[in-house]
Amino acid sequence: MSRAFPIGRLCGIRLDVHASWFPIYALVAVTIANAAPIGALGTAGAYGVGAAAALVLFASVVLHELAHALTARRFGVQTTSIALFLFGGVATLEAEPPTPLADAAVALAGPAMSALVALTAFAAMHGVDAVVPFRYTDAAASILAYVTFANAVLAAFNLIPGYPMDGGRVLRALLWQLRGDRDGATVTAALVGIGFGLCFAAGGLVAVAVTRTWQFGWYVVLAGFLVRTSWVQFRALRRAPLVVTLRPTLPTLPASEVSSVGVRTADRWSV
Ligand SMILES: [Zn+2]
Repeated sequence: MSRAFPIGRLCGIRLDVHASWFPIYALVAVTIANAAPIGALGTAGAYGVGAAAALVLFASVVLHELAHALTARRFGVQTTSIALFLFGGVATLEAEPPTPLADAAVALAGPAMSALVALTAFAAMHGVDAVVPFRYTDAAASILAYVTFANAVLAAFNLIPGYPMDGGRVLRALLWQLRGDRDGATVTAALVGIGFGLCFAAGGLVAVAVTRTWQFGWYVVLAGFLVRTSWVQFRALRRAPLVVTLRPTLPTLPASEVSSVGVRTADRWSV
């Protein structure tokens, strides 16, 4: 990924931050800060909560990608890098998983990790009173609430059965197993993904029109990214063997009250 800065390694995998991630991080942090319970912390404290919650949420996107990468490693496929960018995260694998079973397992690992993080944060939220000093209880609880909500959305959204979502990968693996034709299965899953993306875009436009909340415009942008990704894959496979696959993971931007986070993840697999 161009304009990406390496910031370290995780389990031997290079971790990059793309330039496009910084503005989305700032947007998410400010949105959370504006919705945070200020309490005894004051305005500066609220921004501190926003900055911390956004960091934790993007860390959970990295965990989602890492789950894909480490599961792929179990099936003999290495990961070149994990990167954070505008739409979330992306893990670049050195090859496609070798079998339908491996394909499904790698795809399901990300949502499974997100669900686990959501459950852990939810449990921690209810134990926070016993550990965190009273003055900071609200701040800690609100960060954990964001983490719970965002990871639950991350898990659920990514299970939408349209390529390039993780659920679309599972659909592809299933069709691949049934038909014995990986590329044909990918084309079908990509078409389903285009359908979901168009519905998602239409839903976003209706939400903007009805609520006059421009925040929903983000979902339209995101849907555009999904449709484009599915379309590129569809075209590539209709013309020639697989070249590049983009696999997003979750999109969400700061919603209002509950303040989820805009965490969108994508995994790019090259073969
Ligand atoms: Zn994923």
